[in-house]
Amino acid sequence: MTTLENSYRDNLPSKFYSDQLPTSVPNPETICFNNNLARELKLQEELSNPELAIHFLSGREVLKGTHPIAQAYAGHQFGQFTMLGDGRAVLLGEHVIDSHRFDVQLKGSGATNYSRRGDGRATLSSMLREYLMSEAMFHLGIKTTRSLAVMKTGESVYREQVNDGAVLTRIAESHIRVGSFEYARFYTDQLAAFTKYVIKRHDPDLLESENYALEFLERVMNRQIDLIVNWMRVGFIHGVMNTDNMSIAGETIDYGPCAFMNAYHQNTVFSSIDKQGRYAFGNQPRIAHWNLAILANALLPLIDKEEKAAVEQAERVIQTFPDLYETSFYKMMMNKLGIVNTSMENRKLVDELLVLLQNHQVDYTNFFVSLRYKSLEPKLLKDSLFQDWLKKWELAQTRNDGSEEGLMLMDQSNPVIIPRNHLVEEVLKEAVEGDVESFNKLVAKLSTPYVQQEIQHIPSGFDRSYQTFCGT
Ligand code: AMP
Ligand code: MG
Repeated sequence: MTTLENSYRDNLPSKFYSDQLPTSVPNPETICFNNNLARELKLQEELSNPELAIHFLSGREVLKGTHPIAQAYAGHQFGQFTMLGDGRAVLLGEHVIDSHRFDVQLKGSGATNYSRRGDGRATLSSMLREYLMSEAMFHLGIKTTRSLAVMKTGESVYREQVNDGAVLTRIAESHIRVGSFEYARFYTDQLAAFTKYVIKRHDPDLLESENYALEFLERVMNRQIDLIVNWMRVGFIHGVMNTDNMSIAGETIDYGPCAFMNAYHQNTVFSSIDKQGRYAFGNQPRIAHWNLAILANALLPLIDKEEKAAVEQAERVIQTFPDLYETSFYKMMMNKLGIVNTSMENRKLVDELLVLLQNHQVDYTNFFVSLRYKSLEPKLLKDSLFQDWLKKWELAQTRNDGSEEGLMLMDQSNPVIIPRNHLVEEVLKEAVEGDVESFNKLVAKLSTPYVQQEIQHIPSGFDRSYQTFCGT
C-alpha cells in the first residue's frame, strides 16, 4: 500500500464522484485490527507500525499521491427512487494485490457532498457490529465485504444518546451497486462508459461480447442468486435490501440492521424501520428479483437501441430468476439435509420441513445440527407429522449412494454457531464500555462455525422484543 490506485476516478467522469478527504479526527485509537485480513492483503508489514496505522486507518492522513473520493450513486429505498452517494464514507483508493483489486474505504469518516442532513459519522457500536457480522459471514463461506479495522475517533456522535464515534476500514471487491447504474442511467450519455468500466473490472471476459450489457445483467443475477441462497442457508436477514445496498460483485454489503434468525419463521423482521416486512427473511429472494429488474431497466439503452426489443431481451433474462433461484435453493436445502439426489419428491420434503419448523418455532440453526447428530427436540418428536417427515428423510438418506457423503454435506452446510442476537448485543455493550475481550472472543469463535462444538442456547423470548437499527 505504498500507494493506492483509483481506477474509478481515473476512468470515470467527475459526475460519478467528488474528491473528498476524510475529516481529521482528534484522538484516534485502535479498537480492533484484523491481522488475518491484513496478511491476506499483504498489508501486515506496512501496517505494522502502530503510529502509522492509526493515522492511516482513522483518516487522519492519506497516503501521498492518492486521491480519495466519495462515490455518487442513486437507489430505490423501500421502493422509492432517491439520489444518494457516500454520505459517510470515503474511498481511499484501490489496493491491487496478485492482480486482484480491492476498494479500501473508510466508513464514518465525516461529511461529504452527499451527506444530506447526516453528520457523516458512525458510532463505535455500529462499526463494531459491522466488523463482527462481516467477519462472521466471511467465515460462514458467504461473499461479503470485509473489515480491516475499527478506530475510535475521540469524538462524540449524537444519536438518541451520546456515543463514541468510530471509523471502520472496509475492504470490498468494489462499492459499485445496482444504485450506481440507476445513477448512470440518469446521465444516459455516460451509461456505456460506466458499464464498460464496471465490466472491465468485474467481468472482463464479457468485454468482447456482442451484447455485453445483457450478459452482464445475467452475471449479476447469478451472483445474487448464489448470495441470497447462502443467506437463506444460515438464516441471515440483511434488513435493508435497497438497490443502493446491492453490490454488483455479489458481496453482502452494508451491515446496518441485519441480524440472524433464531426460531424459523418466513416473516422474521428485526429492523425497526421495516414496518411492512418488505425485507423479511422469506421475502429476500423476491426483493433480489425486484432489484435486478431495476438494474435491467437501467441497462436498457445498452441492450438494444429499440426500447421494445431491449425490454423483451431484458425480461427474458429476468424471468429466469425464479426457476434458477428455486433450483439453487432446493439444492442448498438438500445439502443441509444431507440428501445427495435432488429429486422433485425431495423438494416436497424441504417444503414440509419448513412448515413444521415454522409451526413449532424451532431454532433454524440448531435443528440441522440436532438432525445430524440425532438429538432432536422432544417438542418436535412428539408431533406425529414430524415423525412421518423423519421417516421420509431417513429413507431419502438411505437412498444416498454413500451415507458418508450425506453427512459431509450436512457438516459443510450447517453452521453450529452463528452471531446470535443476544451475544452480539452483550459483547457490543461491553466493548463500548471499554472492554473488548468478549467481543474479540466472539469474533474468534465465529471464525470456525462448522467445527463440531457445543450448540448455542437462546434465552427464551429475547427475539420477541429484539430490534435492530439502520446504520446508526
Ligand atoms: P444506508 O441505509 O446505510 O445504506 O445509507 C443510505 C444513505 O444514507 C447512503 O447514501 C449513506 O451514505 C447515507 N448515510 C447514512 N448514514 C449517514 C450519516 N450518518 N451521515 C451522512 N449520510 C449518511
Ligand atoms: Mg448503503
